[in-house]
Amino acid sequence: MKDNYRNKGQRQKLVSELRRKGIVDEKILSVMLKIPRHFFLDKAFEDWAYKDTAFPIDADQTISQPYTVARQTELLEVKASDKILEVGTGSGYQAIVLAEMGAKVYTIERQKKLFDQTSKRLVQMGYERIRTLYGDGYKGSPRFAPFDKILVTAGAREIPKALLHQLKIGGMLVIPVGDENVQKMVRITKTRSDDYVSEDFGDFSFVPLLRGTNHGIV
Ligand code: SAH
Repeated sequence: MKDNYRNKGQRQKLVSELRRKGIVDEKILSVMLKIPRHFFLDKAFEDWAYKDTAFPIDADQTISQPYTVARQTELLEVKASDKILEVGTGSGYQAIVLAEMGAKVYTIERQKKLFDQTSKRLVQMGYERIRTLYGDGYKGSPRFAPFDKILVTAGAREIPKALLHQLKIGGMLVIPVGDENVQKMVRITKTRSDDYVSEDFGDFSFVPLLRGTNHGIV
């Protein structure tokens, strides 16, 4: 795929739109200005890549709306030294945003087909430093824990305990929590080994966080 002047112009507009919608972190905006989001969609949908909407990808999943990606990244207060777990790799776009913010990224996906496709795409795009994992993100990643930050990009009915346990003290979990239609964006900060502070950042709508894995053998 190519990244041409037209694509770059469309990205400029998208970033202006994100700014208008209230994203203030300039680092996030500059990262999103740089990443060719159309690489994550089929060629036929290239123009859709720079609209501020979610879009269907494989396995009945979606690439999150750019505003949502920017907002979740903002809430995570990413520092260059952070070790971050993303639950819900999907297209890999959000993982790249976090990596471009300077973080060490681990990302876990339960759909085998997406895991395979996206792992390949990340390497093709030069992001072999992003560690892709296949498994149930509900359980986090005991192997690579603890994390400074955990970002869940699917809607959860409740907060998975394993994710709280896998946070460092002072670490943060950003997770949409609610039913299948609408979720509240919640940020939980771990203040002590069993003490948490929770903040609410309004309504969003994600595909559901499901349990177990899916090999694609129906
Ligand atoms: N961050 C993605 C958004 C993907 S949508 C992007 O930037 O494109 C949410 C993803 O979460 C889907 O791919 C879905 O398969 C995945 N998912 C849902 N439940 C999961 C779980 N328990 N563990 C890991 N991934 C999960």
